Amino acid sequence: MEFAELAEFFEKLEKESSRLKMMSLLAELLRKASTKEVNIVVYLCQGKLAPEYKQLEFGLGEKFVVEAIARVSGYPKQKVEEKYKKLGDLGLVAQEFVKDKKQLSLFREKLSVEKVYENFLKIAKASGIRSQELKIKLLAELLNSAEPLEARYIVRIPLEELRLGIGDPTIMDALALIYLEEFKKIEKEKIASMEEHQIRMLLRERIEAKYNVHPDLGELAQMLKKKGLEGLKEIKIEIGVPIRPTLAERLPSAEEIIKKLGKCAVEAKYDGFRLQCHKSKDKVFIFSRRQENVTHMFPEIVEAIKKQIKADEAIFEGEALAVNEATGEFFPFQITIQRKRKYEIEKLSKELPLKLFVFDVMYLNGKNLMEKPFRERRKILEGIIKKGKVIELTEQIITSDAKKLEDYFNECVEKGLEGIIAKDLDAKYIAGARKFAWIKLKRSYKGELTDTLDLVIVGYFTGRGARAKFGLGALLAACYNPDKDEFETIAKIGSGMTEEKMVELEKMLSKIKVDKKPARVFAKIKPDFWVEPKYVVEVMADEITKSPTHSCASRDIGYGLALRFPRMVKLRTDRSAEEATTVHEIIELFEQQHKIKTEPTEKTKEAATNGVSKNEDK
Ligand code: AMP
Repeated sequence: MEFAELAEFFEKLEKESSRLKMMSLLAELLRKASTKEVNIVVYLCQGKLAPEYKQLEFGLGEKFVVEAIARVSGYPKQKVEEKYKKLGDLGLVAQEFVKDKKQLSLFREKLSVEKVYENFLKIAKASGIRSQELKIKLLAELLNSAEPLEARYIVRIPLEELRLGIGDPTIMDALALIYLEEFKKIEKEKIASMEEHQIRMLLRERIEAKYNVHPDLGELAQMLKKKGLEGLKEIKIEIGVPIRPTLAERLPSAEEIIKKLGKCAVEAKYDGFRLQCHKSKDKVFIFSRRQENVTHMFPEIVEAIKKQIKADEAIFEGEALAVNEATGEFFPFQITIQRKRKYEIEKLSKELPLKLFVFDVMYLNGKNLMEKPFRERRKILEGIIKKGKVIELTEQIITSDAKKLEDYFNECVEKGLEGIIAKDLDAKYIAGARKFAWIKLKRSYKGELTDTLDLVIVGYFTGRGARAKFGLGALLAACYNPDKDEFETIAKIGSGMTEEKMVELEKMLSKIKVDKKPARVFAKIKPDFWVEPKYVVEVMADEITKSPTHSCASRDIGYGLALRFPRMVKLRTDRSAEEATTVHEIIELFEQQHKIKTEPTEKTKEAATNGVSKNEDK
């Protein structure tokens, strides 16, 4: 196919606002493409060189494009830049300059789609010191042979500004349209009483099912071209190609979840990155939820997969998050997110090591497990994990009791987790969709506590891991109940302390250690050492949550309260234990949070209508 023809289609698609018309235009284009080039045409329609997971990026900045346009047109760079300021689109700038080129090129060939793609590939792959010059040359070579309209797209594609508005669903719709007649013949009986659009949707579903396990529409289109609908059978799960993830539905309460699922698995919802891990002997790939290949970012997980997964070949999923080695507590997402970066990976993997909590397995030693019910997949998953430091199974309970689900939810939130995910024990692995196989229940409101609290230290935990040498990893802190003259525990604090501070605290606290729980302390939790309630610390936290572990307020309101993500600010030597924050103040703060929760602020309302979530990234 000539690139000029593709450019004409692009122009038509660009002008079109009806999705149905776009779909038929696309179908027409894909019909015209040959088997050899149809994959390329699909990628170029997507404005890419390959599917997301192959991560082929152009790496071509505007500066290079301006330079290439100047060289080809014979105008100075400054002129090109001026035009760019005026038009705001380098594609249109290229089109105009190619139209009134100063010098006519001596050598001009008609551009084929393949030739353009080949140069684009070379641009993406160029690396090293001479790569900039090479990229400019390759682009200039294309522009030199381009007609004005071709130039528009030759520039927009590598700048990743094609913006035709064609999403993957439209491409799948177009494919369904192309193979509709063949489908009708094959499925004559099944479709006898169906309407035309229902038949097309049925075919579209079949195509999408393949796309969900092998999200490469170029390859799919090519396979269809080669073998017709029979070709779909050849699209299979493959190590190194990410499966599109199952998504979670949401319901507002434990009761509704139980009503919907009955007896179900309830898992802790960890707040980190979802990782899809592929292992084939000693080769490991890790993909993000958006199917980016992130293998290089997580060296400790790669090593753990090699050691802890007892399988030659496997594809499984889990959530990775940073864990405070000293206290065993989870770090909040804001800390874990620091691991998503391109530089200093080794250093960070030591400072902020991740744990991977695995929750599903889709493929094992040549077998597709996606059709098996979740309860079986979980058993299989349990069987392939060797005990180790990095990879663990997600925590899970199985229940049909809403009260138990609710208690478990509170326990999870208190531990610094996001909530729970309930899972249908009989569901298949549903790639790329939400179909009530998973239902999440999250803390619905993240009420930042703006004030700090003053809490009394009533005990401490010895450090584990890197903190063992300090003899102290976390503090057990309590608020004061003046009515009963008792201290009620509210938090285990493992953050906000420097190494020096920990040494200093251990020195101070070891002097006031006592053998058993001091009488004035009211607690359910037991630290490694109890201490006289004497020292007061200033503490920051994100929120107050219900707690099955802490005793704060439990005699007043029937359930305990705890701090989510407590961080030590400083020692308050100016306060006595009895001057600490009281239980009643805590109850009031907790109730205020609830008020805000039931009366959404403008900000939360806006977020709800926009569907905005910080988790979009995961
Ligand atoms: P959300 O992002 O709020 O829609 O919730 C779904 C996400 O929760 C998944 O994509 C995972 O990244 C994450 N997650 C955390 N823990 C689990 C778990 N135990 N099972 C499944 N997903 C989990």
